[in-house]
Amino acid sequence: MFLADFHVHSNFSDGKLSIPEVVDLYGRHGFGAIAITDHLCESQGVIGITSAYLGCSLTPATYPLYLEIIASEAERAWEKYRMVVLPGYELTKNMLSNHRSAHIVAIGTTQYLEADGEVIDLVRSIRAQGGISIAAHPVWTRKIEKQTYYLWDNRFELQNEFDAWEVASGPFIFDEVAKTKLPKIANSDLHLPRHLTAWKNELSCERHPEAILEAIRKQQMDFRFFNAQTALLRELEYASPRSAEPFGLGSRHRQFVSRDLVYSQAVG
Ligand SMILES: [Zn+2]
Ligand SMILES: [Zn+2]
Repeated sequence: MFLADFHVHSNFSDGKLSIPEVVDLYGRHGFGAIAITDHLCESQGVIGITSAYLGCSLTPATYPLYLEIIASEAERAWEKYRMVVLPGYELTKNMLSNHRSAHIVAIGTTQYLEADGEVIDLVRSIRAQGGISIAAHPVWTRKIEKQTYYLWDNRFELQNEFDAWEVASGPFIFDEVAKTKLPKIANSDLHLPRHLTAWKNELSCERHPEAILEAIRKQQMDFRFFNAQTALLRELEYASPRSAEPFGLGSRHRQFVSRDLVYSQAVG
């Protein structure tokens, strides 16, 4: 079994860490898979133009380098940590109205998409290129920030278009999503190192990109709360003074994870 986080930002959009720093953060904590999902904002409209201008969005100009770094970091992550790194992005439609705003996380995608299109066409394009489509933080995020309600408002029409809906984002579980029969996923939406303390997915498939995407499609996963601080404390407590791996990997990792909160799909 391994932990996976499929919604992670780097400094290619508004994240704090570079892609190699993200890989090392998750690798050192024993994760088995992550997806790098930087914002890809609408290019039309005031908000889209401003985000691209401020360097907060992938653009056709930055996307090839982004993919290249993810591919080389995926190799390094596998060699060093046996961790799978998937490419992706977060199609970001930020409107003035929360009810017209939507964030769509795509993973396993390597073709650039303009975020300006209709939601239904975007989601179909993600799947057409073999990717997974995720409705990101579709309900109230429990934070003071712009909200993105379009997908939730239209969930009955869109339910078959998404492979998963975020049932948790960061430290918050969304009861509204948990109560439904919609396919689910739990991600940190990491922008800063401290966001590592968050709900995650626990998978037991092979550590291979296709197997991981398939496990999400088939909903063969559970959700666990990962506390990076207690993980580190317990790790230091258990590590021998001569340990070459101060953060540890593998079985010890499972030991402390299992003592944290568990939210099983069977419950939801
Ligand atoms: Zn988002
Ligand atoms: Zn995000």
